[in-house]
Amino acid sequence: MENSSKIFDVIVIGAGVMGSSTAYQTAMRGLNTLLLDQFDFLHHRGSSHGESRTIRATYPEDYYSNMVLESSRLWEKAEAEIGYKVYFKTIQFDMGPSDDKALRAVISSCKKNSIPVRVLDHHQVYEEFSGTIELQRDWIGVVTEHGGVIKPTKAVAMFQTLAVKNGAMLRDNMEVIEIKRDEVKGGLMVCTKSGEKFWGKKCVVTVGAWMKNLVKEVTGLDLPIQPLEATVHYWKIKEGHEAKFTLKTGFPTFASYGEPYIYGTPSLEFPGLIKISEHGGRPCEPNERTWAAPPLVVDSLRQWIEGRFGNLIDHNGPVMTQSCMYTMTPDEDFVIDFVGGDFGKDVVVGGGFSGHGFKMAPLVGRILADLVTVGEAKGVDLKYFSIERFKGNPAGNVKDFEDQVNTH
Ligand SMILES: Cc1cc2nc3c(=O)[nH]c(=O)nc-3n(C[C@H](O)[C@H](O)[C@H](O)COP(=O)(O)OP(=O)(O)OC[C@H]3O[C@@H](n4cnc5c(N)ncnc54)[C@H](O)[C@@H]3O)c2cc1C
Repeated sequence: MENSSKIFDVIVIGAGVMGSSTAYQTAMRGLNTLLLDQFDFLHHRGSSHGESRTIRATYPEDYYSNMVLESSRLWEKAEAEIGYKVYFKTIQFDMGPSDDKALRAVISSCKKNSIPVRVLDHHQVYEEFSGTIELQRDWIGVVTEHGGVIKPTKAVAMFQTLAVKNGAMLRDNMEVIEIKRDEVKGGLMVCTKSGEKFWGKKCVVTVGAWMKNLVKEVTGLDLPIQPLEATVHYWKIKEGHEAKFTLKTGFPTFASYGEPYIYGTPSLEFPGLIKISEHGGRPCEPNERTWAAPPLVVDSLRQWIEGRFGNLIDHNGPVMTQSCMYTMTPDEDFVIDFVGGDFGKDVVVGGGFSGHGFKMAPLVGRILADLVTVGEAKGVDLKYFSIERFKGNPAGNVKDFEDQVNTH
């Protein structure tokens, strides 16, 4: 079917959190926007579904902290517009061996960005969290104010609703197989597997774990992106201790540096359960998933939970798991750029969010909308996210600390 009577200003392909936030941003600017997804909206086969994502300003790379602060303001702005909350604040607690390079870099980057930070020894940590968190003697704890939990599915629904409210059109079950220039009508023609065609002046491609395949197909460009199948684990808090781990009592979002990198959120979405998972996963093809939780990861989580939370959490095994996908770049930095070539500045990609993109979605949406409207992004240095960085240099940006994400 042809939709040739209408030429959209912007067609956004991929309606996860990044595409939905972008569609909201472009529609809000008065641009005629179309948002497409290959599956049902709010499906669970990508990266943006579920009940909790961490927001934290503690990054070893100093270019992310201010992006998080800006994103945090934009989350609140979107919440004010929709009239309900998706972002629940608490403190952020990072911990790890005192000589861990990445954790030391987190402390320096907070200081450089004027983010107030407190570094505690194991005694002080025990006091600070009233005995709920125990550290080894040679570990330190790092406390910052900018932590919190974002509700992913609810947040994606929020952006889609706001996009529609601002005039965008949304269509699901539309798998895009081709984007090409239409020499007759001008602009870009977007073709779907079902035979529908759409026309737009600009295109934003935010297809998550499918990015490598679609970009290669459409432009010939081979982005160094690897999807990972990741598992979220929920553990049971022992009876009588549930309240200690809630947002209400000020329990933090947390991350544990070193091998393996482990993260978690306060008990919120499932009463009596706490999410504690490893930052990593196993390489996969996005359409050929196992959906299974790797047993070795569970072993290392068990040990870590026993060490940190002693007798307060049942570490025998998770009581619930969920599957999700990371989209990794070699340097764990995003890819936000024009695809160039024959498409010049008309097609922009936002991908490679490497397991830490959700918190940034409102800002990424704003950046992608800036790129298709004014050709540059205001107030953000995009050199770290360029495609160019991989040319002749497959490892990308140079880092002076260990990788955060574990690949099994
Ligand atoms: C287990 C887990 C925990 C995480 N924890 C955190 C965290 O605590 N904090 C944080 O900041 N981030 C976290 N992240 C990362 C964050 O969730 C992702 O970076 C983010 O959701 C990526 O969103 P996306 O829109 O790029 O991808 P997706 O949500 O996958 O969206 C891409 C969309 O594109 C669609 N699509 C693909 N191909 C096509 C096509 N050809 N045509 C049309 N549509 C197409 C897909 O169906 C999909 O809906 C986590 C991720 C996982 C998996």
